[in-house]
Amino acid sequence: AAKREGRSIIKLFEPVMLYSRQLRSQMAAELRGAISSNELVLHYQPVVELATHRILGVEVLVRWQHPLRGLIPPDTFIPLAEEIGVIHDLDRWVMSTSLHQLARWRRDFPLDDDFQLRVNLSAVELKQLDLVDSIRTLLRELDLPSRNLVVEITETAIVTRGEVEMYSLLSLQQLGVGIEIDDFGTGYSSISYLRELPVSMVKVDRSLLTELNTRPGQLEFVAAILQLIRAAGLEAVFEGIETREQAKQLRELGCASGQGYYFSRPMPADEAGALLATTRYLRVGEEIDGPEPA
Ligand code: C2E
Ligand code: MG
Ligand code: MG
Ligand code: MG
Repeated sequence: AAKREGRSIIKLFEPVMLYSRQLRSQMAAELRGAISSNELVLHYQPVVELATHRILGVEVLVRWQHPLRGLIPPDTFIPLAEEIGVIHDLDRWVMSTSLHQLARWRRDFPLDDDFQLRVNLSAVELKQLDLVDSIRTLLRELDLPSRNLVVEITETAIVTRGEVEMYSLLSLQQLGVGIEIDDFGTGYSSISYLRELPVSMVKVDRSLLTELNTRPGQLEFVAAILQLIRAAGLEAVFEGIETREQAKQLRELGCASGQGYYFSRPMPADEAGALLATTRYLRVGEEIDGPEPA
């Protein structure tokens, strides 16, 4: 059933349409009201251990249920939200709503102690002095262990390494929240930052996977990236795994974990909850050469 979701996000509203000034300002006005009108919805996509298919956690992905335009994907409105300064409210809403969801799940059924709720944070959020305090307060109020939260921050955001950004990262680390660099390989940063920033995980962008089976040398290239991440003492996660072959290859290269349509599409909260309540190890496809579920 989770498979349906991906298809239902018909891109009625392509980013390119944002070029129309009038539409842009209309969207901006609507987006400002979207949070208070409860038009944002969260979907959840499992991240699994590649060797066992154990569900390690879920990534929280926001969508905009627009009254007229249907379900709008985040790539379309997150940049707009950043531009018009709504991103702050949006990210806080996502953080709060998803942590409340996690608390409810934990009340309703057992989850692994190290279960990870993975929340995307916009770059500008790291500049907010009260970011870490607000997260600490939420965790305390909901009685959630900080290890259950991982924040995903894109590479480009993290490498600017401003004073406040570093303060936020270090405080998050001190709090015990996991920090992951998202979309690794799409920025244009120096590699040395991997060893200098207080991060624990690196999620490699799916663009590196798309050519895995077609482009000569790509497998070696991906292997080298995984080695690089490991050499920096960090854990590698791969996104955008769509085929059994890709999952197998990454597993054989020693990549610990990943996510993608092959395992599961992002799902609405009730579907994700139903899955998590009944499943610790995802069973995928016919599973001919996949690992045996424990
Ligand atoms: P991301 O953090 O890299 O999230 C992964 C994206 O890849 C998601 O797109 C997910 O649906 C998609 N995906 C997952 N598996 C596959 C696969 O096997 N194949 C393909 N082709 N795609 C896959 P989505 O949900 O459209 O999100 C796009 C981006 O929007 C995210 O990229 C993230 O940067 C941003 N975003 C989403 N939710 C939030 C949020 O709450 N706050 C902020 N600041 N950004 C968000
Ligand atoms: Mg992400
Ligand atoms: Mg990503
Ligand atoms: Mg990505």
